[in-house]
Amino acid sequence: MNAKKKTTVILSVIFFIIFLMMIINISFNFRNYGIKSVEDKVLMVSDIIKHSLTSHMVNGIMDKREFFLNEIKKSKHIKELWLVRSPTVLKQYGKGLKNEISQDKIDDAVIASGESQKIITESIFSNNTFRMTIPYNAIITPTINCLKCHDAKEGDTLGAISIIMDMNELKAIGLSTVFDIAMIAFAVMLLIQLFTGKLLSPYMLIFESIKDVMKKANNGDYSGRVREIGSQESQDVANSINTLIKRFQDILNEIESKIDIFLSHKQEIRSSDPLEDVKQTISQLSDLYKFKRTIEHDITIDDIYKRLITVFETKIKIDDFTIIECNTTKKSINIIYSSNGLHCNVAQDGCRADRSSTTVNSCQFVNICGSFHDEDKYYICLPYSISNDLDLIISIVSSSKEENLRLTQAIHLIDDYIDSAKSEFVTKKLMHQLQESSYRDALTNLYNRKYLEEFIDRAVIEHNNNTTSYGVLMADIDYFKMVNDTYGHSVGDEALKIIAKTLQDAIGENDLAVRYGGEEFIVILYDCDDEKLLSIAQNIRTTFEKKKIKAGNGITFTKTISIGGALLDDDSPNFWKIIKLADVALYDAKNSGRNRVEIFDKIRERDDNFDIDY
Ligand code: GH3
Ligand code: MG
Ligand code: MG
Repeated sequence: MNAKKKTTVILSVIFFIIFLMMIINISFNFRNYGIKSVEDKVLMVSDIIKHSLTSHMVNGIMDKREFFLNEIKKSKHIKELWLVRSPTVLKQYGKGLKNEISQDKIDDAVIASGESQKIITESIFSNNTFRMTIPYNAIITPTINCLKCHDAKEGDTLGAISIIMDMNELKAIGLSTVFDIAMIAFAVMLLIQLFTGKLLSPYMLIFESIKDVMKKANNGDYSGRVREIGSQESQDVANSINTLIKRFQDILNEIESKIDIFLSHKQEIRSSDPLEDVKQTISQLSDLYKFKRTIEHDITIDDIYKRLITVFETKIKIDDFTIIECNTTKKSINIIYSSNGLHCNVAQDGCRADRSSTTVNSCQFVNICGSFHDEDKYYICLPYSISNDLDLIISIVSSSKEENLRLTQAIHLIDDYIDSAKSEFVTKKLMHQLQESSYRDALTNLYNRKYLEEFIDRAVIEHNNNTTSYGVLMADIDYFKMVNDTYGHSVGDEALKIIAKTLQDAIGENDLAVRYGGEEFIVILYDCDDEKLLSIAQNIRTTFEKKKIKAGNGITFTKTISIGGALLDDDSPNFWKIIKLADVALYDAKNSGRNRVEIFDKIRERDDNFDIDY
């Protein structure tokens, strides 16, 4: 029901109720007033009859009273009228000419009680009557003394008069009044209809139109406009609302188009409400801004990966994903993080997404990647080119098609996060490389003395959390000066590279080889005992002495190396002391003929009361 109809109905119902109440009230009052006037009339008639009878009695013309009573009976509206004598009067004077005895129980009751009684008979379709029976009681006044003629006491009921009045005319007047009022009410209601139709109609139509436009706007459609109809006033209202909505729509479109510039990847599926879209976009931008500002202050590339992992887990709600680094120059693959383990053989087979530089989505083509081995899972692999030699792959795995679809729709978010992290990735990578190069020896690519000095404490502590002891080897090439002198400095450099490679090959993944000085090297062996220390040292020595060093023009030669070793255990957990002890052992190896391995003897340390300044 529209507003106009609703208002008309409400107003009509209100007026109908008001008129109904008025009619009921008027009818009720009219009836009471009618009854009261009839009652007054009856009392007056009864009084006249009483006084007249008394006059008749005093004047001794009681026998003439019939005439008087008959004339009274002829009065308008008097239907019936009769007199009743009390038992004492009956006894004293008899029934009288007209048999004035009680006609019914009401007469009896009035004679007995001396109280008047009235009965109203009402009906719309039959006759309406008012009957009243009034007692005549014995009185003594200066002019009248009933006791003169009656054997009675003062106050005794001597008789009564019953009068029945016709009320049909009163009823007719009442009904006609009610009918007139109903007609007026009907006319007023018609006027209301006319009033709402003519006067309220334009306002109601505008109201309806505003309602429709607002409903549309609440659902995200701002194209609706309020109809400009009716009076100038209502047209102005419509115009103001329309201008406001248009401005809102224009500004919203402008915000939307401008905000999207900041997001490199637009959300493909938009909601039906542009306001909601703008809110979401701003929230995304704010998150991205915070993310970017945070990673700018991070130190290492690992910190950026940790932030990305948090975003993927908490913001995008990805349960199962892997971050893979692909070095395009070295053609190597490095798994940075995997929340649920690898689901493909990327290390052996390579990465399809990286190779093709396109998104690989199992929902777009079944078994699209031959490397993926979990048949009941769905996957999306996203390739990102970070720098000339670094690609990043984000591989997302889900258990259901629905989840895969949800994550497909979230790809634009991942794109944005990786994009905003890209420059930081490159910067941090570069910084890492620069830092690495300052800690590496350019000739041999082994760590240098600076690295050893700055990081050895941390490295030792980290390893000591897992291991109980470590050993140190100090190696020095025998008569190395001769190489330079005989074959030149560049051949000497080659020899240094060969010993560096020999050291690297001889030690384990966690062990460390350092170029300590010109042709002096230090090896740190973790989780080490005497036996291991000696065997690795011997391995280095024997391997190196067999290596042929090219001196150009087909000339080759071999060199030997002397090694001193010392073991650190719980008794002496000081790294620099062990270096000194290894140096002492190296000195022994050199002095006892070179091409030897000497391990520092702890007993000797105690016996000689070895005093080294470290
Ligand atoms: P020893 O058996 O006692 O160790 O005899 P040595 O000749 O090896 O003596 P020493 O250890 O004192 O010699 C060090 C030489 O190493 C001196 C220097 O010419 C050479 N050297 C140091 N750094 C480099 C380098 O970077 N390249 C080359 N080619 N030679 C280097
Ligand atoms: Mg030396
Ligand atoms: Mg030497």
